[in-house]
Amino acid sequence: MSEQQQPGTLYVISAPSGAGKTSLVRALVESTPDIAVSVSHTTRPPREGETDGVDYHFTDVATFESMVAEGAFLEHAKVFDNYYGTSRNAALDGVSQGRDVILEIDWQGARQVRESIPQAVGIFILPPSRTVLAERLQGRGQDSAEVIQRRMEAAQAEMAHFEEFDYLVVNDDFDTALSELCSVVTARRLRGEAQRWRHASLLEELLATGP
Ligand code: GDP
Ligand code: ADP
Ligand code: 5GP
Repeated sequence: MSEQQQPGTLYVISAPSGAGKTSLVRALVESTPDIAVSVSHTTRPPREGETDGVDYHFTDVATFESMVAEGAFLEHAKVFDNYYGTSRNAALDGVSQGRDVILEIDWQGARQVRESIPQAVGIFILPPSRTVLAERLQGRGQDSAEVIQRRMEAAQAEMAHFEEFDYLVVNDDFDTALSELCSVVTARRLRGEAQRWRHASLLEELLATGP
């Protein structure tokens, strides 16, 4: 069997703002080995508690535009008046080294990724109700009333794209949603194709002919 490494899986996770994707993805990464989140570039100013290079690469519009011109982005989109983009390196370096990588991006970006990487796995996260979504945006306490209002208006447009994703998770009880998300990752890792690589020597031993 070839020594070449089986590439990891690229996950694209989308949700309306406030549905809980950042919290769920953080918990997934903390509890699962060999999976990482791709750090996006954004022109949005940092929220309190956000760190450059960890939550996002915070950049100005001129830098973002020159990166677009250089073809540095796998996908990019304008969301709520700010630019967001996934650099090719952030998305693909880990995957080519056999690790799973998560993109937390909006539906426009998800569509671009699906076009260039059809084997990417899409997961959409829904809030349990509109009322709860509004409560979570307010409870997060990070955005102004005006920004929250705009994000609520945009939520319906974002959710209208749920059918473009392979998996749908409703984030009502957090631990239930987290366990569902973990199940998707586990099931992908158990596919025969992936397992054949992971357990090549076991299979060789089990299938060897003779005594
Ligand atoms: P939050 O989702 O409420 O925490 O808000 P963020 O400011 O973190 O994200 C704003 C929007 O930008 C969301 O719809 C994200 O999915 C989207 N987004 C974040 N990073 C990227 C990216 O790299 N590319 C694209 N296309 N969208 C992104
Ligand atoms: P997103 O990244 O989708 O905008 P966040 O992860 O920032 O969402 O979550 C929005 C707010 O809702 C946060 O304050 C978070 O702690 C809270 N939250 C997330 N999931 C749940 C849940 N299942 N039950 C209650 N609160 C939640
Ligand atoms: P926030 O400003 O609250 O961090 O993010 C708002 C939205 O932008 C979220 O729905 C998030 O998924 C999206 N977003 C964040 N990074 C990217 C990105 O790199 N590309 C795209 N397309 N959307 C992103």
